[in-house]
Amino acid sequence: MSCKIYKFGGSFGKIIADGDSSMKAVLGGKGANLAQMCKDGINVPPGFTIPTSECLNYYTNGQKLIKQLCDISLEGVKFIEEQSGKKFGATAADGKLPLLVSVRSGAPVSMPGMMDTILNLGFNDQTVQILAQKTNNKRFAMDSYRRFIQMYSSVVLEINHHYFESIIDDRKLSLAIKNDSEFSAEDFEGLVVDYKEIVKSKTGRDFPSNVTEQLFGAIEAVFKSWHNDRAIYYRKLNGISDSLGTAVTVQSMVFGNLGETSATGVAFTRNPSNGQKYLYGEFLVKAQGEDVVAGIRTPNTINSESAEGDKDAKTMKDLMPQVYAEFVAITHKLEQSYKDMQDIEFTIEDGKLYILQTRSGKRTARAAVKIAVDMVGEGLISKNEAIMRINANSLNALLHNSIDPNSPKNLLDKGLPASPGAASGVVAFSQVLVKDLHSKGIKSILVRLETSPEDIEGMNLSAGILTARGGMTSHAAVVARGMGKTCVTGAKGISIDYKKLQFTTKDGTIVKQGDKITIDGGNGCVYLGEVKTIEPEFFEEFKTILKWCDEVKKTAVRTNAETAADCKTAISFGAEGIGLCRTEHMFFEKSRILHVRQMILAQNNEERAVALEKLLPYQQSDFVQIFEIMAGLPVNIRLLDPPLHEFLPQKHEEMEELAKSLGVETALIESRTNALHEQNPMLGHRGCRLGITYPQIYAMQARAIFQAGYEVLAKTGKAPIIEIMIPFIITHQELENLRALIESTFANIDANGKKLEYIIGTMIETPRAALLAAKIANSADYFSFGTNDLTQTTMALSRDDSASFVKDYIEQNIFASDPFEILDQEGVGELIKIAAQRGRVTKSNLKLGICGEHGGEPESVKFCCALGFNYVSCSPYRIPIARVASAQAQIALQAGVVKE
Ligand code: ADP
Ligand code: MG
Ligand code: MG
Repeated sequence: MSCKIYKFGGSFGKIIADGDSSMKAVLGGKGANLAQMCKDGINVPPGFTIPTSECLNYYTNGQKLIKQLCDISLEGVKFIEEQSGKKFGATAADGKLPLLVSVRSGAPVSMPGMMDTILNLGFNDQTVQILAQKTNNKRFAMDSYRRFIQMYSSVVLEINHHYFESIIDDRKLSLAIKNDSEFSAEDFEGLVVDYKEIVKSKTGRDFPSNVTEQLFGAIEAVFKSWHNDRAIYYRKLNGISDSLGTAVTVQSMVFGNLGETSATGVAFTRNPSNGQKYLYGEFLVKAQGEDVVAGIRTPNTINSESAEGDKDAKTMKDLMPQVYAEFVAITHKLEQSYKDMQDIEFTIEDGKLYILQTRSGKRTARAAVKIAVDMVGEGLISKNEAIMRINANSLNALLHNSIDPNSPKNLLDKGLPASPGAASGVVAFSQVLVKDLHSKGIKSILVRLETSPEDIEGMNLSAGILTARGGMTSHAAVVARGMGKTCVTGAKGISIDYKKLQFTTKDGTIVKQGDKITIDGGNGCVYLGEVKTIEPEFFEEFKTILKWCDEVKKTAVRTNAETAADCKTAISFGAEGIGLCRTEHMFFEKSRILHVRQMILAQNNEERAVALEKLLPYQQSDFVQIFEIMAGLPVNIRLLDPPLHEFLPQKHEEMEELAKSLGVETALIESRTNALHEQNPMLGHRGCRLGITYPQIYAMQARAIFQAGYEVLAKTGKAPIIEIMIPFIITHQELENLRALIESTFANIDANGKKLEYIIGTMIETPRAALLAAKIANSADYFSFGTNDLTQTTMALSRDDSASFVKDYIEQNIFASDPFEILDQEGVGELIKIAAQRGRVTKSNLKLGICGEHGGEPESVKFCCALGFNYVSCSPYRIPIARVASAQAQIALQAGVVKE
């Protein structure tokens, strides 16, 4: 097996770059972009990248570094030595500066902070002395050395970082200082001694002074970090394959901690929270990269536009105007060449600017939409590209609540608005508690000094995140935005006491673990208690992109709705009709349920007819209301579907009340109720089987629909577009009989010379119906796939009972996801395909739709679009998501990405 490394560097106008930005699969995002930047003449410290395939080999080789890889890595180090003029593991005799490197992880898909990186590698007691002498800066040399020991020990030697932190804390206490910046060179030298003792006592070995051993140890640790818990969890959460592997980039260090003219920072070419177009970033003077993201100190902003917090603090623009201008020019160049918002890591070493990373920046859904629309306006991308950039699922976040400005509030503190939305929950200081509360269905706010990648699961399961330290680019902020989770960072006014499990505000208010708080990710405010929230509003760019989606999409988006409120919401979200109106939901109201029960318990047809006569006006007025709201749009009404016993009285008082109103004995009600009991109601007397046994029920419903139609026609002059749907069929005969029933009901209504039109369709929600679609299509004007039931009946899996074990199936990789959330395309989808094809052979213009929960799930929507469905139907709040997914499917089809 031959190994290969990919070098990048450049000096004296000669640029070497073995890779470029198209090689992310091989070099990881970081390595590929470093090579590309090098090619583009951007100042990048020289280095080399070990490809992702070596990470996979490492695992197939039984987790050992093979000799060829070690050899070629040392060749890479030689390359960096030539490029930098420094010497790895330099001795006094070399007369050169010691080369220190970073060993950086980087996956093909961005997984910020999930894997390990080691900085300042190449230190030992000799090199630190040479560095101190040659730079004439012992403090800097010692600081870097102790940072290295700390990082290497925790990442490679797996010694808990708390040991090192408590040494620092003790030292600060004894010196009566607050900040690391107040340590002297000798203090750091002392730390180095203490650190080494810890290493010796924990591992029984001296800290490795051989720089080659250090390098191999670090490369191995980065490979290993591909399979650490948080990386695995992150991949699962984001649907990233475990088989990609991480690349390793070894790169010459540059130092932001050299002195007052050195700094390090992170910037976004646009505001990642709201998408506004200005350079947005944070930096720290005299610091190394990790200090900014780890939230060790709250950083300064690079310019006044970014200043969400402290307006008086000096910005990079104030302190280093020339470097700032150079940086601005580079960020423009990067955005133009990548045609996307970039997240850029940089370091300034003694006034000289280096770019250490660029990647497409993580952003909130709001920012994603604004940036995509703005970039179309700027001519950077096309409308279709803009649509394809939107993560349809993330749009959920745009339908996030915000704090009601008029409700009373008790402000505890104000931090930075790191990720939008409003969230209330009980204070939880640990991930363990968040998980525990989550399992009990209690919402929590994870409150930490700062978060670290180990907290990722707690962050995901919390309602929101609050940190006392860290900025807008801290770990907490970046991860929360990626998750669409509300987050406030840098709430400096609260002091957290993990031991007492409480935090104290500036004015002395004590908030204990378990107390309720509310955070506002839109402005950074933290409130005591639960504050009222209000519903979201569409902003201009959101409307624009949805309009573009409607222009390209072929598959319409309808809604599942049966109340006036839902219909109105759905229309405001762009619904193009109702795909499923469940009539039974109209039966549960208090005024009606009695008549429903009378109807069900009727002893004979006469009694039943009396009860149905009473129900008719209610149904009719419901339909009138819906037809009026949905004027000009199709309304698909499903006739009664659930097993009748769902409507029956459960409690004794209810039975008594019913008995009284019917003038019969309670005992009779009881015995009739018992008689209707079913062992397995979901496979029992339900759906069209009710219409077969009690045709009067379906006839009443049809009459209510038609009479409502005539009423609306008379009132508004516009006829509603009526679709009537028969549920749960297994044979074409059921459909034929019920179709005849509906048609004769229609014929018997006195239309006063007016004309109403309607079509009749059926739900396909049993495998038999799917298989016999060719026959069924003869008497159906349309099919609507009820994928909840079709999933249940295909998999023999009860939606109500499967939740408890489906999670095991997902954990053991038997299912990729819950089939009730994401359509099982392979199995259930195959039946849908068969039914669609066979149905359209019989009737080429057969309309196709889907009305299960899957109708609002982007992947399932795309599946339906590819099959040429006329519409998908989903709950009102999922409509914007389905519109985007439908447009994306169409664009992909046009591009030939999806084949059908
Ligand atoms: P991550 O993937 O977690 O962002 P990185 O490899 O980007 O990890 O490293 C984290 C930080 O370490 C970077 O933000 C950067 O500031 C710093 N860093 C990495 N390599 C170097 C280097 N060669 N010189 C100076 N700082 C570096
Ligand atoms: Mg980075
Ligand atoms: Mg059903």
